[in-house]
Order: sequence, then structure tokens, then C-alpha cells
Amino acid sequence: METVNIINCHTHTFNRAAVPDNFLPRFLMPLARLLENKGISKFFFNVFSKMQKHELALLVKKYHAFLTIGDLKSQLEIFKYLQSFYPTGTRFCVLPMDLEFMQAGQTKQSYIGQLDELALIKQDQDYKDFIYPFIFVHPERKGIFDIVRKYIEEKGFAGIKMYPPLGYYPFDERLNEIYAYCEKYQIPITFHCARGGIFYKGEITNGMLTHPKTGQYIKEQKNKFFTDTYTDPDNYKYVLEQFPELKINLAHFGGFDEWQKYLGNTIDENSITWYEKIVALIRKYPNVYTDISYTMFNADLFNLLKLTLEDNTLKGKILYGSDFYMVEQKTSERQFVTNIRAYIGEENFKLIAELNPHSFLYNHL
Ligand SMILES: [Zn+2]
Repeated sequence: METVNIINCHTHTFNRAAVPDNFLPRFLMPLARLLENKGISKFFFNVFSKMQKHELALLVKKYHAFLTIGDLKSQLEIFKYLQSFYPTGTRFCVLPMDLEFMQAGQTKQSYIGQLDELALIKQDQDYKDFIYPFIFVHPERKGIFDIVRKYIEEKGFAGIKMYPPLGYYPFDERLNEIYAYCEKYQIPITFHCARGGIFYKGEITNGMLTHPKTGQYIKEQKNKFFTDTYTDPDNYKYVLEQFPELKINLAHFGGFDEWQKYLGNTIDENSITWYEKIVALIRKYPNVYTDISYTMFNADLFNLLKLTLEDNTLKGKILYGSDFYMVEQKTSERQFVTNIRAYIGEENFKLIAELNPHSFLYNHL
């Protein structure tokens, strides 16, 4: 059998139990409950299809798929489902989430419970070679550095995941000992780096209205938009000045909106886009990567991706990732990988899904 070396660098297997009670806005809860039901979703899908409202029918299908996966009873079940979309032997970075500090209520499963569930899969003979679990880092989690070391050194975890819009800057000093450790051992860190997604829902205090590094005033606005301040790629300048060899992945390549802005398809004011900011960081620092997960659900972006892959520096730093099963809200996993692979061709796909993930994940010291 031909060995497959594909690595999907960005996937999730956490289920509903890891998500806080007030995660969805209250008005969406009844809708979510409806769409979760197969019979009801099928009914609406058929009605919309008959009415020739194909966009709406597809939307029903997508949200039903998304909600159903989140409802599977274990991370292993979700992982097996993910495997079904890829050739046997494909490997996956699985990124957990610590949503206990986002001020959206309690989670049924503790964060450590979520990690231990992944640790069990990592010990299972049938799965251990195919799963690369990461450790989520929130600076407010007590003893987080010890947690990191334990799961890296004793449980075979492969890297770190962070999500600044949950309410912390990447240059938060509480993260320094983790950065020093990761830089020393070349442990990869993946940061969410696109507008939107999940965000801190608590109060925005006066102290939060000044950027700690630039001193700039940050306009008070809805949390959903305010928290983009934490996500901005500019924040990594301060981290990389201090830890220039740190191996990081700025996930989502800045996000769909920023790619559209770069392409000139928005009426936003002329500012440097996150696409350009990430490109600049990659050119400046040796171990900065980016992944195309979620963002690449829309084929409008494929030409720019293809051209970016023509650049001699950038082509070695782009990682394949899908953002399973978050991306189900936009497209199915199989559609996602099929579109990209067919469009960029086998040679480029090998680069982003095999060679680059290999240098991102493995220690070359
Ligand atoms: Zn993700």
C-alpha cells in the first residue's frame, strides 16, 4: 500500500460538553434545536429545494451537519468521522479549546477532562499514529505551564493552541515561560488569526481601552468586534522580537474578509490588510507559518492562493488545514479538500499538506 503523508494541520474534535451554556446568542438557541433534528432539517431542505431556494436549502443542510457533529458523544467518534474524509494514513492536528474564561457560562466537561480524552486517543494503538493533539493555552488557567509540560513530555502531545479573541494579547507576559520553552524545543504554536469566530463575552473595562504596547485608544464597540484587537497580526511583532525563533502558525491566513479586502472587493478604508501583515512576518522571521483552514471555503480566493504559492519564500510556509468541523457551517469537509487539491494541483498540494506540515511539526534541532 502506498503510504499517505497528508497532515491536516487544523481540526477540532471537542463536542458540546466542552462548550459553555451561553455560547450561542439566546435568540439562536431555538433555531439550533430545530436544525439539530434530522426530520425537521430534511423537511425544510425539501421545502426550500422545491421552492428553488437552493441557497437556503444548503444553509439548512450545513447547520444540521455542523450541529450533529458537535452532538456526537465523544471526541473519538468525531475523530473517526473526520478520518472518513481522507485517505487511510492521513494525520490530523487536533486543537482543543479552553472556553472557561470567555464569560459565557459553565461547561459540562472540564478543560482537563477534554485533554485527558485526547490523551486516551493518543495512547490507543489504532489511532496514536494519526492524531497530533495540541494543548490549549489560556494565561488565566492556573498552572498552565505545568499542564503544557505534562502533556508534551508525558502524553505525546504535539503543540500549543491559542485563541487571543478569548480576551488576551499574544504578548501577555504570563505566556513568556511557555514561549521560552517552545522556542527552545521548537514546539509549534497555532494561533487563531482571523476576525470573528469565538470571542470574550464579558465586560469591556476602561483598562482594556488602551493598547498595552502602542498606547493607542481602542474604540469601545460590541465584543465581537472589539476582540479583533487581540487577534491583529501586529501583536506578534512583540512576541517575535523577544522570541525570534519561535515556531508559530497564524491560522486562517488572516481570514476571508481580509483576503477580500486585499483583493479590493470591499469598500473599507485603505489600510494594511491582515493578509499583508502575515506575509511580512513570514518574510522577516524564519519559523512563521500560516494555515488556510476555514478561509479557503470560498473559491473566490483560489487565484490569490495559487499566486501566493508561486512566491519562493511563502510557498514553504503555507499549511493545509480545514478547520473541521467549524467549516461545516460553510462547506462539507470533502468539498473543501477536493476543491483546493484540484485547483492548486498535486505538486502544490504535496507542499502544503505534506512537506510544510512536516517542517512545522517536527523538531529539526
Ligand atoms: Zn479552528
